Amino acid sequence: MPCDAAAVAAAIRAAAAVITTHRDELVRLDQAIGDADHGENLERGFGFVVSSLDGEVPDNPGAVLKLVATTLISKVGGAAGPLYGTAFLRAATALGDAPVLTPESVAAALRAAVGGVVARGKAEVGDKTMVDALTPAADAAEQTAAVAGELAEVLRAAADAAEAGAESTVPLIARKGRASYLGERSVGHLDPGARSSALLLRSFADSAAG
Ligand code: ADP
Ligand code: MG
Ligand code: MG
Repeated sequence: MPCDAAAVAAAIRAAAAVITTHRDELVRLDQAIGDADHGENLERGFGFVVSSLDGEVPDNPGAVLKLVATTLISKVGGAAGPLYGTAFLRAATALGDAPVLTPESVAAALRAAVGGVVARGKAEVGDKTMVDALTPAADAAEQTAAVAGELAEVLRAAADAAEAGAESTVPLIARKGRASYLGERSVGHLDPGARSSALLLRSFADSAAG
């Protein structure tokens, strides 16, 4: 099945449901090293995203992601709203007005998304943020697309890499965001934003696999 605007909108709705399922887990992770609102911020934000999608059906995948971006930017406070908003906005721009996703365009969109997060938040790999999940995900997506992997395979490789990247944040000292206020005391905890990035990518991969 071609991955058109309707398929991408369905994938976003599925991701919103995954965020709701994992809301309390994300709250607990943010309780340990932040202010306990990451699950709530994302659930609220994706709730507004679903409402936006109920109101209009954008006519290409990039337009769907742009609607996600503008909704997250306008509705979600804290660090993650603007960061995820920027990620979706850059991904939308990378996709342009192409009618369907391809393995290559998804890999390029993911790379652009990471670039947006880094441009906005200035975190590097190893700073214990969502960048630790998203950067290896973009690497894996590009590698898989380059060997002619299918769209579902590209996203599965990205999700696998994001999960490993999220786990890699546990022993790290946080250097960006609220968790950085804890210094050494942030060690031993999974970064909430890295976890939510891995959840989103796994959900997108599951949607692409059908
Ligand atoms: P807040 O910290 O404002 O309460 P959230 O709890 O929603 O916002 O999001 C926290 C997550 O945002 C962190 O777990 C981390 O992954 C991510 N984050 C925070 N600051 C940055 C940054 N400068 N660059 C990248 N990601 C960041
Ligand atoms: Mg928080
Ligand atoms: Mg907060």
